[in-house]
Amino acid sequence: KLHNTILTLKGNIRVFCRVRPLAPCSPDVEKLETGQPVLAFPPVGDAMTAGVELTASNGNKNTFTFDHVFGPTASQEDVFEEVSLLVQSALDGYKVCIFAYGQTGSGKTHTMLGTPDQAGLIPRAVEQLFTAARELEVSQGWTFEMKASMLEIYNEEYKDLLGKGPPSGKKHTVTHDERAGTTAVSYLEGVECADPEAVRTLLERAARLRAVGATAANERSSRSHMVFLLSIRGANAATGQRLNGMLNLIDLAGSERLKTSGANGERLKETQAINKSLSALGDVIAALGSREAHIPYRNSKLTWLLQGCLGGDAKMLMIANVAPTLSAANESLCSLRFAAKVN
Ligand code: ADP
Ligand code: MG
Repeated sequence: KLHNTILTLKGNIRVFCRVRPLAPCSPDVEKLETGQPVLAFPPVGDAMTAGVELTASNGNKNTFTFDHVFGPTASQEDVFEEVSLLVQSALDGYKVCIFAYGQTGSGKTHTMLGTPDQAGLIPRAVEQLFTAARELEVSQGWTFEMKASMLEIYNEEYKDLLGKGPPSGKKHTVTHDERAGTTAVSYLEGVECADPEAVRTLLERAARLRAVGATAANERSSRSHMVFLLSIRGANAATGQRLNGMLNLIDLAGSERLKTSGANGERLKETQAINKSLSALGDVIAALGSREAHIPYRNSKLTWLLQGCLGGDAKMLMIANVAPTLSAANESLCSLRFAAKVN
């Protein structure tokens, strides 16, 4: 309740920052190059905000305040605790989007998917919603239908990560029914979360995706957006109430600034696609924030897909992930600036 009130007051957009720990194990052993921490957590902000201070390679200090800042010792559970009410509101019929933004290696996938022993937001959210839905069915006569899908957006094209995708010659298309408050993606396979078994299967598929991400496809995963969609349709036979909630969890493409000069062919195309979609996302959020009449959803496949879940009374959370090292400091600064602009 409290969180929902805060969200309303803040125009439904919240921004968190998460600093990952130094990588502990070989071959990725990291050190603080100067022995001095690049990121510090000064006591700025008020009761509702927290600060993070970045010292750039030239010694300049930059301080930002966000709705919440997680330091390197924050656990997956700590992070979920701060988003569980937001996740829960999807079961009240709200549209919710949670984005992980940051350069490659900053901890986006760890935050969203996590590992089998350190589950991230996606498995925790699905489990919480599934359990809460079952309780409401028993106690208040609701019936819920929950369907999960996973999409990749690569080179400004959608790709179904759980199903076979469209027949040859066809493409995924996205249509919005504003009155019903629903979004439909053609040829997209949904996994019915009807029982705990289905939820487990889904999470195993997600874990396998993560495994692929760690090896061969890592390069690609850093250059594509991964969108987890959970649609929730609820009906209450006793009261006649209906609702259409939606939870979108998005592991964004690496935000490292990509130069178009020197790149050619496939790489140039990828680079342009990422630059285009990340700036389109920033533009949409900025337009929503300044309550502009025209919101440029059509400028990227990402914002077009999420149109029904950005704006209106939809709720949004941006998590700016940053790495703790000096070599990452310039990119971290860019990420914090992007996030501060959204805030
Ligand atoms: P990204 O998806 O942004 O490229 P990853 O999530 O793959 O980054 O994180 C990079 C590496 O750091 C991975 O080996 C990941 O397991 C590890 N890592 C990231 N965040 C944390 C964290 N909070 N705690 C422990 N390890 C983390
Ligand atoms: Mg990743």
